[in-house]
Amino acid sequence: MNSLETIDQSAMLPESLRADFPILSGDIINGHPLVFLDNAASTQRPRQVIDAIARVYERDYANVHRGIHTLSERSTEQYEEAREKVARFIGTANPQEVIFTQGTTGSINLVARSWGETNLRPGDEILTTVMEHHSNLVPWQQVTAKTGATLRHVPMTEDGQLDMEAFGELLNEQTKLVAVTSMSNTLGTVNPIAEIIAQAHAVGALVLVDAAQSVPHLPTDVAAWDCDFLAFSGHKMLGPSGVGILYGKEALLDAMPPFLGGGSMINEVCLDGFTPAELPAKFEAGTPPIVPAIAMSAAIDYLSAIGLEEIHRHEQALVKYAYEGLSQIDGLRILGPAPEYRSSLVSFAFEKIHAHEFAQVLNDQFGVAVRAGHHCTQPLHKLLGISASTRASFYLYNRPEEVDRLLEGITAVQKMFAPRGRKRRAQ
Ligand code: PLP
Repeated sequence: MNSLETIDQSAMLPESLRADFPILSGDIINGHPLVFLDNAASTQRPRQVIDAIARVYERDYANVHRGIHTLSERSTEQYEEAREKVARFIGTANPQEVIFTQGTTGSINLVARSWGETNLRPGDEILTTVMEHHSNLVPWQQVTAKTGATLRHVPMTEDGQLDMEAFGELLNEQTKLVAVTSMSNTLGTVNPIAEIIAQAHAVGALVLVDAAQSVPHLPTDVAAWDCDFLAFSGHKMLGPSGVGILYGKEALLDAMPPFLGGGSMINEVCLDGFTPAELPAKFEAGTPPIVPAIAMSAAIDYLSAIGLEEIHRHEQALVKYAYEGLSQIDGLRILGPAPEYRSSLVSFAFEKIHAHEFAQVLNDQFGVAVRAGHHCTQPLHKLLGISASTRASFYLYNRPEEVDRLLEGITAVQKMFAPRGRKRRAQ
């Protein structure tokens, strides 16, 4: 078992911040305190975000951009301030480049449908990778099937990093867009986004970054990266579900047709046609996620007060600690690269125990909540020769003791399932 001595204590954020998260002290599973290690799927919310939601509903709520009454003005102001905050958080000075969507999936579909269907022709290529979440695969499968463009995939190296040599070879004049994750939600691999963008731009291709897993954990700078499109979700960064962001360069968004039609996205409508509104309203048809957007800005305040560098250091120390502990367990295969090439999560598989059974016992008997399944990366799991894996994913509130609890649980559950052939006993 790991010893707390081996973790970099200087990288740890103060344990006191756990008190900000009511669910972490309130939820007991079968008498065990909750060890929440499913943060890559969705994180928990601090009191500050929960309060922001209650405050808007109690004091300021009305529909935005539509009324001239006080409440509408207040909620509009807060909604637009949230946009400005998101813009600053990801490194753009221009809030018009920030579109509120329902989440990462909504953002990627917006680009695939609006930009893709307008710009792609037979012979054009979209380049994505074998480690993408289904959200950054299926929309491109759909749009290439519709337009006759070709979808190609960058392979990975043996240790689960993007094969940059193959990437260079696959890029060519026909490549119109590279759609790539900044961090794999299954392998934990952090991809060299600035380098990918520079290489793609050199052949005239645009780049869409699926940043669902990196924005909550690592500093983001769309301007420094010269990023064309960036997609991420509020619920993976302490914010509410139902809100996400599409960042796009203004000139690109300006040239794209609206994706959804309806209220708010128009300048003028007559019975036989319409003119679209300016950015960002053009891409925000209907009533937007008003309260989730405002609460997402409270989450950004919370993260910014701690600092993304500090959060990353904390998670790196936890991941390294977990990786070392997991490496010592027989019959367990860690997926993905060494700790220095990954961030905030580690997935693993057992030869003889199915991930679902494993996670169920870990939850029921140890109070440890992990993810089991294909994590919406079925093609990647097929490449790895497995149908499912177990994923432990960390955030700023997780502690080394929780990693110990995970390791302890794994060892105990393994014993329960072994030796092969013997009837499994309930503990
Ligand atoms: N992309 C990645 C890398 C993810 O991890 C996820 C969610 O797990 C998504 C996209 C989809 O995010 P959402 O369900 O919030 O749209």
